Parts: sequence; structure tokens; C-alpha cells
Amino acid sequence: MPVLINHKRCNCLPNCFAANVCPKNALYVDRPTNLVTVKAEVCGDCPAPCLNFCDRAALKYAPSLVELDIMARELAGEITVEQAIEERKQVAARLKAEAEAKVAAAAEAELHPIKFTQENFMTEVAQSELPVLVDFWAEWCEPCKQITPILEEFVKTFAGKLKIGKLNVDEEPDIAGQLRVQSIPTLVIFFQGQIADMIVGALPKPQLQARVQRVLEAVAQLQAQQPTKGTAAPPPAAPPSRPAANRPGGVAPSNLPPQPPRRPRGH
Ligand code: SF4
Ligand code: SF4
Repeated sequence: MPVLINHKRCNCLPNCFAANVCPKNALYVDRPTNLVTVKAEVCGDCPAPCLNFCDRAALKYAPSLVELDIMARELAGEITVEQAIEERKQVAARLKAEAEAKVAAAAEAELHPIKFTQENFMTEVAQSELPVLVDFWAEWCEPCKQITPILEEFVKTFAGKLKIGKLNVDEEPDIAGQLRVQSIPTLVIFFQGQIADMIVGALPKPQLQARVQRVLEAVAQLQAQQPTKGTAAPPPAAPPSRPAANRPGGVAPSNLPPQPPRRPRGH
């Protein structure tokens, strides 16, 4: 933020001590007008040593653009000191409300599965330090809807141990195709970028929880054996899966990959 100059208080010209200490030569005495002037485009992101060298308190530093605007109008006499104080109170109240809303939104988001996309898959899944459960789903998939509340519950149950999110195969067919997801729902648990388990079909909650628990125990064992970050190998791969059509709750195989699962007839 640039400093503001109160020219009414500026009375030690032509020698401006403040200008002499400006490391960016942003503060200078404009000789034609004989006024201390600041290059606003240069001044800013600076600890403002100039303020300490102006013993007339002619310089003010605005910590934000909003404060800069209030100060400028106050100095120009457009608003009174009392009005400036009231505006500052209102700004502070608004900023506080915005910050609280942001914190509340972040806390609320943590209670629900994350939405995985092509954009965040690498950072949120492949590079995650926590194991990650990815639910491959689609709007039209009825079995997918059955496990949604279970996953919502798992977000709280496994908080801090397992990251949980959903990937819409209609919106992100490439990722589903690359991982050879052939029917939905399919739940893939990743650890250190590798598949630790793959669950096809809408398992009942106890079985699903047991599978997740098994992976987390394997991860904990590995981490205990190899505490150094980045040296741990992935947990054992899941046992070979049965064909999707034979699994309880699984939607019939579709043309994935590379195409997304097809909408069943009649939906
Ligand atoms: S030191 Fe302060 S009062 Fe003196 S000329 Fe510079 S800005 Fe003005
Ligand atoms: S805030 Fe820094 S850059 Fe700006 S006038 Fe003061 S000393 Fe110069």
C-alpha cells in the first residue's frame, strides 16, 4: 500500500528526511510544486521506514486499500474524523463476518466428501499423505446413492486417517478409463499414489467399513516399519475381484474404459 501524505502537516521542506530514507525512491520532493510526493506504483510491500523519519506525522501508512480510501477521503476533508472512525468500524465488522463465514464454510466442507476432478486429482489423491477413498459414481446410478450416506458418515468416522471424495464418471471419463473402472459404484482406496484396494458394488456398511479398516491397518503397519517420509511402499494390493456383474449392488459392466458407464435403460 502506498503511504499517504498530509500536506497540511508537511512543513520541513525543502529537506524531507523521510524521502532520504526511502529505499525505493518512491518518496520525493516534487521541485516544481515543492510538495512531497509518492509514486504509488512503486511504494508498497515495504516496512515503511519513512514514517519513522517524519517527525511531523505527515505520513500515514494504509494497511489495506479500504483503509487507504478512508484515509484519503479523511485527509481531503470529504469525511469527518468521526465518519472515518464509523467507516472503519463497519469495515472491521464486515471483514470479521466474512472471515467467520469462510471458517464455517471450510468446517462444513470438511464434513462432506471432496469432489475429485481432473484438476485436483494429482494433488488431492495421487500426492496425498493420507490414504484416499475415491467413490466413482454417476447421477443416474441408484446403487451409488445407497452408499452416499455411508460415505458421508465415514468422513467423520475416519477423519484424520482417510480422505474421502467422489468422482463423477460422466464428468471425468478419462480418470475412470485410466483406472479401468468398469462399473459403478466402484470405490478405490489409494495410498501414496497406488491402489491399495478396489471395492466394486454397493457393499453394506459393515463390510465396507471392514475393508476400509483393513487398509488403514496395513497403512499403519507400513508407516510404523518405515517412518521416514517418502520411503514407504504401498500396502498389499487387493485380492483379484470378481466380475462386476457378479458383485452385490454392482451396476452391469459398461463400456468403460475409455467411455464412461452407460445409463441403464429405462432411466
Ligand atoms: S519529513 Fe515529513 S514533514 Fe518533513 S518534508 Fe518529509 S513528509 Fe514532510
Ligand atoms: S513506505 Fe517504503 S517505499 Fe513507500 S515511501 Fe515509505 S519508505 Fe518509500
